[in-house]
Amino acid sequence: MTDFRFADLQLLRYEVPGFELLPLRQKLFVYYLSEAALLGRDILWDQNCKYGLCLRQTLEAIYTHYDGPREDADWQAFVIYLKRTWFSNGIHHHYSYQKFEPGFSKDFFLNEVGKLDAKLLPLQENETKEHLAQELAEIIFNPKVMPKRVNQADGEDLLLTSSCNYYAQGITQAEAEAFYAKLKKDADPQRPPMLGMNSRLERNADGSLYENVWRSGSLYGKAIDRICEMLSKARDYAENDQQTAVIDKLVEFYRTGDLKTFDEYAILWVGETEAEIDFTNGFTEVYGDPLGLKASWEGYVNIIDHEATRRAKALSDNAQWFENHSPVDERFKKRECHGVSAKVINAAILGGDLYPSSAIGINLPNSNWIRAEYGSKSVTIANLTHAYKMEAKGNGMRQEFVIDDATRQLLDSYEDICDDLHTDLHECLGHGSGQLLPGVDADALRAYGSTLEEARADLFGLYYIAHPKLIELGLLPNDEAYKSQYYSYLMNGLLTQMVRIEEGGQIEEAHMRNRALISRWTLANYPDAVQIIEKDGKHYVCVHDYSQLREAFGKLLAEVQRIKSEGDYEAARQLVEEYGIRLDATLHHEIRERYKRLNLAPYKGFINPKYEPVRDDEGNIIDISISYNEAYDEQMLRYSQRYNTL
Ligand code: ZN
Repeated sequence: MTDFRFADLQLLRYEVPGFELLPLRQKLFVYYLSEAALLGRDILWDQNCKYGLCLRQTLEAIYTHYDGPREDADWQAFVIYLKRTWFSNGIHHHYSYQKFEPGFSKDFFLNEVGKLDAKLLPLQENETKEHLAQELAEIIFNPKVMPKRVNQADGEDLLLTSSCNYYAQGITQAEAEAFYAKLKKDADPQRPPMLGMNSRLERNADGSLYENVWRSGSLYGKAIDRICEMLSKARDYAENDQQTAVIDKLVEFYRTGDLKTFDEYAILWVGETEAEIDFTNGFTEVYGDPLGLKASWEGYVNIIDHEATRRAKALSDNAQWFENHSPVDERFKKRECHGVSAKVINAAILGGDLYPSSAIGINLPNSNWIRAEYGSKSVTIANLTHAYKMEAKGNGMRQEFVIDDATRQLLDSYEDICDDLHTDLHECLGHGSGQLLPGVDADALRAYGSTLEEARADLFGLYYIAHPKLIELGLLPNDEAYKSQYYSYLMNGLLTQMVRIEEGGQIEEAHMRNRALISRWTLANYPDAVQIIEKDGKHYVCVHDYSQLREAFGKLLAEVQRIKSEGDYEAARQLVEEYGIRLDATLHHEIRERYKRLNLAPYKGFINPKYEPVRDDEGNIIDISISYNEAYDEQMLRYSQRYNTL
């Protein structure tokens, strides 16, 4: 499986549950939308780096025509470099934005390019192979050239020091900011368009600036036209009229590049909530632009997860029951309680900036005024989360950190289902429960507020996950299951979450502080229920009494709700300072060392399933097949060939 684990990366597969059972009409809809989602790949490569596509073609030509020894160290380092480049859609790390250091020699590169047939290379007219090789070698091997894709360092010119391809070379930060400040002044202040999001800023011959808009007939037009062609095919299978209107408006936007049209599209899209299959396709997130204006291209397709959505709904439908039966003081309970139900979906394809590295929850659109007036669609992606969990089962963490086989078995049987349920309880009910006493300021807990808020939601989930009501609602199979959540929660809060913090540091992030607070408060106050014990120089969480733990969580929930409802800043400060922040240096060191020995990849991404039309003798599509056996390099090379648009 070396194909799936290299450098600091690991590739996982995800399955699309129930795809085979969909009617042909829905399969075709997924298929054409997926094609549209894959056709934008080259746009992203060009956005990330001016030389991205040229480099990719050259590296892939070397990869597929190399005939030297496979054990050669240069070759092996070259393969890792190419796999990392594929993963990042460019030559900079997808997370740190730093340029990769090539582990192979410049001579190896020049030599291999020299051996290739010129037809395989992206040569300009009259350009020689030698010239191209030297030009690309400078970009790959000179650490001073394009060192960082997105530079955010305060005080530097963010455009001159970032190598992303959103601004023509030489345009300064001050020039770009002045250009957009002027556009902003002329825009509707109540409903401003997403200025700058779909264009490259360039310079006219007279020195003035203009936007080269990404649309049909202009920059990226070739890719955009092919996307539109697939969207038009998908349109025939849209699930309702609103969805047809969404597709029409998106195509209109791609043709014109008009930002008002984009807002109209976003409003139509956010209002369509009935369809089982949904998608996004377009210029979306702005993290790749140091000025936060230009949106990178991404696309994905999703199918509703009925089972998981039913689960979330079962909770939110019973929100008032949960509120009434919680262990908090009557004065702090909400009289009228509405659960929030987020939609749970499964990804059918990931494309552009969501591939191979993907988010597991997505909330769109990004326009603030549209969110305020029309709301947003929030989804959690169940099959990607599931793939992470499957990986976690086999990665050695449980073997290393869980105390014994019986507990490991408990986790193997129930952790999946309990984890999802705890997240639902936290999101659908926990955050929405409780009320402030009249006159209490919502910000009274100040810097401790968000930690206490997360603790409240987590405790609500921990308390109720052990309640027979969940078995009654058909959400848990028996009264053993909750124990897996209790064990893994405490193990994470007391031990394993420390691996993410550098030695010498302390806990900063609110969710992590909250988990430490709950776990360590329980450890300190309920020593008969839970302890940390040492076996052969290693520390483990040992639970003696699960039912006492439930009592502990209920008690702390009541106290945290009191603190919030009364705005008791001093009590919040004491709880967080005492249990939520500091780390025991010796224990921290031990946990980090044990973790390091597992050699796990900090970053993960996904290999897509492969969809193929099945045709009858006359050439009509009678089915869409799905398969999961494509290798990482095979998929990347296929995409470069089939979805090569620019
Ligand atoms: Zn939360």
